Amino acid sequence: MPVLCVADWLTQGAPPPPPFAILRLDVDYREPHAVRLAEIAAQHGLRGSFYFRHRGGAFPLAAMRAVQALGHEVGYHYEALDACAGDWQRAQRLFLAHVAQLRAAGLRVQTVAAHGGPPRAATYRRNDDLLRRTPTLLAQAGLLGDAALQMDFARVYYLSDAGWRWRFYARYTPEVTGTPTPLRAWLAAGLEREHGLYVNVHPHQWFVGAWRARYFRVRNRIGRVVLGQLPFRPRGA
Ligand SMILES: [Zn+2]
Repeated sequence: MPVLCVADWLTQGAPPPPPFAILRLDVDYREPHAVRLAEIAAQHGLRGSFYFRHRGGAFPLAAMRAVQALGHEVGYHYEALDACAGDWQRAQRLFLAHVAQLRAAGLRVQTVAAHGGPPRAATYRRNDDLLRRTPTLLAQAGLLGDAALQMDFARVYYLSDAGWRWRFYARYTPEVTGTPTPLRAWLAAGLEREHGLYVNVHPHQWFVGAWRARYFRVRNRIGRVVLGQLPFRPRGA
């Protein structure tokens, strides 16, 4: 099953027929977990999109460079409206400045994904309102798109571990909460044969036990779809 990063998807002329998966990882914190998952994915020849936040006054550049060096897409997990308490003008400037900062650090940022959370002002509902209201910001920043806003969710089933449990969305929209679905049941249904899959993983949640336990947890729960069905082969083979 082909596994794509978001930039791959957005640059494809014609989407592939199912089964395929788009792999997106929102790195909210605990960046070393993202690097470890990036290593595991790379060992299996998989490429995902890893989105990093500007947190505590900086981007985690070392982790971002490590993930990019493993062959993954590295993007900006934006929350400019939160950071600017809903001030649209300031948020636009901050968004552009952050993308420029990442590129100046050698990161090939092509796509962005909004960080979720309660709004910090009544002037907006979610961080992606910034690009919904000002879609020209994408072109201004030289970006291909947003990982959700530019996605056709009629073509992909969405599966996310946000909130520490897997939820399934037959047709994703941020206004509706998905159905809690044990991965086991979801995998047994073989849904990936009907539609493509869009899998959103939050690496900071994958830390129970040692790295070995983490590896098996990922292998067992996501792996049968995203990792396990692939012919395992070395990178570049
Ligand atoms: Zn997030």
